[in-house]
Amino acid sequence: MYRRITSASLLFLAIALLPAVSLLLWAPMAAEAQTGASSEYTAIQTRAVVDVERGTLLPGATILIRGNRIEAVGADVGVPSGARHIDLSDRYVLPGLMDAHTHITLTPGYAEHNPILYKSVPYRTVEAVAAVRETLMAGFTTIRDLDSEGADWADVGVRDGVNNGIVPGPRMQVATLAISITGGYMNNDGLAPQIDVPQFGALADSPAAIVETLRRQVKYGADWIKLYATGTTKHIDLDNMAPLPQFTDDEIRLVVDEAARFGKPVAAHAYGGHAAHVAVDAGVRSIEHGMMLGNETLDLMAERGTFWVPTINVYFPLDADAELTERQVAITESHRRVFGEALRRGVRIAYGTDAGALPHGDNAIDFARMVEYGMTPAQALRSATLTVAELMQLDEDLGTIESGKLADIIAVDANPLDDISALWNVSFVMKDGVVYR
Ligand SMILES: [Zn+2]
Repeated sequence: MYRRITSASLLFLAIALLPAVSLLLWAPMAAEAQTGASSEYTAIQTRAVVDVERGTLLPGATILIRGNRIEAVGADVGVPSGARHIDLSDRYVLPGLMDAHTHITLTPGYAEHNPILYKSVPYRTVEAVAAVRETLMAGFTTIRDLDSEGADWADVGVRDGVNNGIVPGPRMQVATLAISITGGYMNNDGLAPQIDVPQFGALADSPAAIVETLRRQVKYGADWIKLYATGTTKHIDLDNMAPLPQFTDDEIRLVVDEAARFGKPVAAHAYGGHAAHVAVDAGVRSIEHGMMLGNETLDLMAERGTFWVPTINVYFPLDADAELTERQVAITESHRRVFGEALRRGVRIAYGTDAGALPHGDNAIDFARMVEYGMTPAQALRSATLTVAELMQLDEDLGTIESGKLADIIAVDANPLDDISALWNVSFVMKDGVVYR
């Protein structure tokens, strides 16, 4: 029999086994936790369940899970015999965290080592597989990935690979290539004009080009359309703190209308000024960064229910001990002020970090800033669970620990309502009823 195995059939066998082999690399923990289970029920014993909606604790609660859904939560939940038991009686248990602004195909240092020029898209996809694993292990069971940054549709591939059980990662909604303009953000700058290289964004300089590129993103799997309504930090005029508006008012409205025809929401990178106001008025679902949003725009956001994803920490130096430049001081001080104004007005603030520009797995990095800028720990926690679930239209299934919802559950050692830094040390991760950590 051995002699009949040809190299071609070996190759076939290797390809056929690849998903199974990669599953084996991470499956043991799930298998171990399930050992001994003789029913479809799982009972998690907790020190307390954190109610992120009310900002309170349910001490001594048991969570009963049937398959991948929560069936009951409370101190006197009846547990069917044969249920699998998970003992978290020394830990605080909360819904899986959510990051509404990530870039899984990006790693810190991209400015010094340009991924477009020096990394292949397949290599960046492999990096993204590692990134989503880090993200999940940090307790973030859902993310919205906002722009593949020139890695084409790699985000769609990773999203689908996670959903099909090939690799571990959070639930994902992705934006594929984001729409920007020639000479604005997401360009490869500084090269001689005769050198033609791919760009970070999908650059579109007319209404027809915008429609064409938007449809291409939808065709290849975008859940969201990302629009760079303003430029980046280097485009900010420090004299008046005005960001660069990148599109005409009509073009911004065109993006929202065209996306809506496909049922796709729009996330607008918009620091502030006129472009941000027009984007909100046009009906984008979220404003990203927004550190120069004016009070009139914040009022409109509160009125319309537009979400704001502030991504605070990414505007500080990566090295926490480094001194801030004049530009960084101006931007971060404005961010702090706008955060307070948004909070006062009841703008829906959804947690997002810009991970990718920051190390993947450090997704808890914005909690301390949000508390420093005026949120209670309970508000920050709600922002990173229920509010992101609302933004992503997943709140019927996710965002809280209550009966009927999917079992995305994490645990930490200390009470995060007392000390938000507890979220840096996630010691248990369940997604969709499966234990990953
Ligand atoms: Zn970003």
